[in-house]
Amino acid sequence: MAASEAVTDALRELHARYAGVRGGRRADYIPQLARSDPDAFGIALVSMDGHCYSAGAADAAFTLQSVSKPFVYALALSTLGLDEVSRWVGAEPSGEAFNAISLEPRTGRPANAMVNAGAIVTTALVPDRAAVPAFTAVLSCLSRFAGRRLDVDEDVYRSEASTGDRNRALAYLLRSTGTLPVDPVAAVDTYFRQCAVRATAVDLAVMAATLAHGGVNPVTGETVVSTEVAAQVLSVMATCGMYDASGEWLLRVGLPAKSGVSGGLIAAGPARFGLATYSTPLDAAGTSVRGSAAIGALSERLGLHLMRNP
Ligand code: GLU
Repeated sequence: MAASEAVTDALRELHARYAGVRGGRRADYIPQLARSDPDAFGIALVSMDGHCYSAGAADAAFTLQSVSKPFVYALALSTLGLDEVSRWVGAEPSGEAFNAISLEPRTGRPANAMVNAGAIVTTALVPDRAAVPAFTAVLSCLSRFAGRRLDVDEDVYRSEASTGDRNRALAYLLRSTGTLPVDPVAAVDTYFRQCAVRATAVDLAVMAATLAHGGVNPVTGETVVSTEVAAQVLSVMATCGMYDASGEWLLRVGLPAKSGVSGGLIAAGPARFGLATYSTPLDAAGTSVRGSAAIGALSERLGLHLMRNP
């Protein structure tokens, strides 16, 4: 990692450079997301010694949406192991949009855990017990990744629950092919709640840094998942985290990453840092326009591309 001052300067400069960018559109298929502030722009980086660098609206709260997916995948992998999870959800890039109605022809499984179909299955794999209901386990896991107790934005949850018929349709399709182990309505409800968990860019950077740090939260010191699980999750983020823009992202930016329709974006440099941005206007692939520009520029400036010989 470059010296602290270089990181602080880089974040400040990138924030100033991209704050005025006007491209992209806020997601409005979840009505509540269209009420977000399109000008808010935050960026945060957490190093392996738990130091946090930030610029702009890094403390503004927003919902995780799909940024939750890698962390719930981590929970499923920790609970059931890679072989069992892989019986239900694949690990191949789909080359399709986040909400595509498509399953692997031979197995009926969703292509990967980063697209909605795969994330609904992943959430459904989290054990739902009387003592620890599935969502309690999900929230506790997300909170341990963030290093503080997160909560749910009930307005966003209700907004998605009242309009999310496509995800409900996906869950019923999964059930019909035998790749959803629980009731579709319950699975989607837990998934909507998980998407509505509220956090800041700083929280997201800590979460990404925990994956980069082999599953150990660099701020709290807690082991959240094993080194193996962290590596498995980063692998799927690298190949599938940016939906149908994953190949182009890996080529140009060179970091495992995950986007979300509420404007969050995380990227991780294994054994180096966790990075997150927040800005709500999105491009056609559902990625934050300012976030993607800022992380791309930071990768170039600090030489962060994983395939690059340092
Ligand atoms: N809750 C959103 C959905 O399922 C998440 C999509 C995303 O962030 O890419 O449609």
